Amino acid sequence: MKFGTKAIHAGLEPDPSTGAIMTPIFQTSTYVQESPGKNKGYGYARGKNPTRVALEKNIAALEEGKHAICFSSGMGAVDAVVKLLRPGDEVITGDDLYGGSYRMFTKVFEPYGIKFHFINMTNAANVEQYVNANTKLIWLETPTNPTMQIVDIAAVSSIAKKHNLLLAVDNTFASPYLQNPLLLGADIVMHSVTKYLGGHSDVVMGALVVNDDSLHEKLYFILNSCGANPGPQDCFLVLRGIKTLHLRMERHCYNGRKVAEFLRQHPRVEKIYWPGFEDHPNHAIAKKQMRDFGGMISIVLKGASLDETFRIASSFQVFSLAESLGGVESLINHPVTMTHASIPKAERDRVGVVDNLLRLSVGVEDVEDLIADLEQALA
Ligand SMILES: *Cc1c(COP(=O)(O)O)cnc(C)c1O
Repeated sequence: MKFGTKAIHAGLEPDPSTGAIMTPIFQTSTYVQESPGKNKGYGYARGKNPTRVALEKNIAALEEGKHAICFSSGMGAVDAVVKLLRPGDEVITGDDLYGGSYRMFTKVFEPYGIKFHFINMTNAANVEQYVNANTKLIWLETPTNPTMQIVDIAAVSSIAKKHNLLLAVDNTFASPYLQNPLLLGADIVMHSVTKYLGGHSDVVMGALVVNDDSLHEKLYFILNSCGANPGPQDCFLVLRGIKTLHLRMERHCYNGRKVAEFLRQHPRVEKIYWPGFEDHPNHAIAKKQMRDFGGMISIVLKGASLDETFRIASSFQVFSLAESLGGVESLINHPVTMTHASIPKAERDRVGVVDNLLRLSVGVEDVEDLIADLEQALA
């Protein structure tokens, strides 16, 4: 089956008791047993819920993986992966990371004795010099947030395989429509389902997708032991949203290109980060591993002070000033004070997260209205 058909059908069957075409919301915490230990595959809902199982099958199919596990948030999913490690283990990760992942790695897991190397991964060869006997995991994001750098997943995967390391890819920005890291050699794909998969800014959820049975077993054990499981209502909402993932992504990509082209020639824009431009430093890799370039764009405003940047960020009428991304509505975000506030200034400056940087999540509205809104806000 092709992508759009899978988005609508994979993992889903009419409800056997009624024929309902939509997966019911199984709002239950427990399941009645025929005799002790004899049940219909469901014991207690932290471990398993049929609405969640349907969603997990669907997400696994979209990511070309064998198993998916849904979590109560993207951070819950990241947390489960790091819990595979033990004190003394080391992780190699990017220096342009989602702020919440950076915060979790440095503030929660470093005190438990896990060491993180934050490095520039756009040159995959860079990764190998950080590998030592304690290295267990490579955690990468591509496109990166917010400067839209592209990391060569296949190249990093060959380093991971050579040294017997796990490779996890945060695929939130691309979505499975644009990129399937498991096909490029990753062991674990992570999603903040909150973003493109849910797509309607009404659910917080995470997911992990893997092929390896024993890795799945370990991650599922962590989910069931630590309890970051999503509720059935949220799973239903994501099942509903995910059916239009391919349609939404097509429009996100179309609008993204139009908006990027408009901003690139605008006199107030000093710099634009969007991997679809041929002169983007990693365009060739983006073209190799992604099907299109998405609707995430960052811009640096020419000579704008922090005050001026605030004024522009607050003067949109169609775009909304908010954290998050990947929903049908267009959002604008000021990383320094919003999504990346938990990253120290020196670290931010080093990777180009400057005061006059704005990040756009281009939605699926009519693009003429988005461009008109940008035009008036930048004026
Ligand atoms: C939002 C986000 C997360 C965290 O996901 P939540 O669902 O908010 O917990 C992780 N990585 C990336 C790239 C994100 O955008």
